[in-house]
Amino acid sequence: MFSEDQIISIMTYMIMLLLISMIAASLFLYLPKPSKSNDITCLKYFCGYFLASSLSYVVFILSGAELLPLTMATFLNNGLGIAAPYFLYAGINWHNKTSKHLYKNPLILFHIIGASTLITLTSVYIEDSLILVELIFFPNLFIAFYVAYRALINNNSNNLSPGGKIFKRTFQFSFISIIIMLSVIITTNNFFIYTSGIMIMQSIMTVGFLSAIYFTFLYKMISKFRKFSMTDHLTKLYNRRYFLTQANTIIRSAGRNKQPMSLIMCDLDYFKKINDEYGHDSGDAALVSFANTLKKTLREQDTIARIGGEEFIILLPNTSIELVMQICERIRENTEALEIKVAANTIKLTASFGICQIDTGLSIESNIRLADQTLYQAKSNGRNRVEHYDSIITA
Ligand code: GH3
Ligand code: MG
Ligand code: MG
Repeated sequence: MFSEDQIISIMTYMIMLLLISMIAASLFLYLPKPSKSNDITCLKYFCGYFLASSLSYVVFILSGAELLPLTMATFLNNGLGIAAPYFLYAGINWHNKTSKHLYKNPLILFHIIGASTLITLTSVYIEDSLILVELIFFPNLFIAFYVAYRALINNNSNNLSPGGKIFKRTFQFSFISIIIMLSVIITTNNFFIYTSGIMIMQSIMTVGFLSAIYFTFLYKMISKFRKFSMTDHLTKLYNRRYFLTQANTIIRSAGRNKQPMSLIMCDLDYFKKINDEYGHDSGDAALVSFANTLKKTLREQDTIARIGGEEFIILLPNTSIELVMQICERIRENTEALEIKVAANTIKLTASFGICQIDTGLSIESNIRLADQTLYQAKSNGRNRVEHYDSIITA
């Protein structure tokens, strides 16, 4: 049926595909181990996609070398082919959350076994059944990929991560190539052209899915470390470094839009005494309570950061000095009203505040110096009070 050259080419394709899939599967060993057990299961399923593909090529090569009976090879080859996308489906479902294992899903098992049995029977009982076999195989492969694609879209309904976007494009590629493969096989009925098509389709899908998985995991890790680098561990507010970079950007855009902006510096009063009296852990609890009061009282657009031990800073875009005085007074009152219960103790807190209107011609550091002077004034005027910069320079 085939020339010797064609047989060599087909075998070369299959060995290449086997190697590509094996390399893809082995690359999972180099991904940093995820911390959550769900993600570990998820990675195993993703790796399973490449292993199932590899095995289907092994089966093909073995039957080509007459080391495996054709009937069994047909069953296994098609079964593994249809099972592979379901590994992606399970991987996507297990990402971040606990899900159902594939072997506990009767519908999926029925689909894999049912379709490959039908294909095997067709190839055994119908002569010259290549077109018919592919007419059964490809629609079933399409269904399996579509199920995985729906899982991706349903699990990330609002926005896809960069890895998710590569997944989506690769799934779309798989749909298009299945349709092209079906058209090719119907029009040419040529097994040699068909295996060439499979080679192209599978190579691109391997690169696509492997990149999608790597991007998904590395992006998740980068986001986690980025969050760590910008937040204060205790209060979960922004830290000094993040505040300074963010504030410079905000101030520049406010300068262009001629918006009034304000800055609040605040410092807890006699905080050392709280530590001395109730212990360091109680001091920490008081810092968290104060941070939560800030979060509750301020608005979404305000940037709040902890810039020192018990010192906090807030940048308020589009806020006049009159408005910031009112906001600050509310924070002061809410802080005074706090009753922080730690063990048998009830801790009371007050804070002092220094406010200044942002001068967009100055750097954030210079603006902070102005607010700091004002805060110093609030401290020397008796603490638990709000001062603003204009009042201290005119006083
Ligand atoms: P003032 O009203 O003048 O601000 O007095 P103060 O006691 O608040 O100021 P001082 O600068 O003398 O003391 C600040 C204290 O804050 C000293 C330090 O032990 C405490 N502190 C700084 N960081 C932390 C922290 O992360 N946790 C706890 N529990 N205490 C902290
Ligand atoms: Mg203090
Ligand atoms: Mg201080």
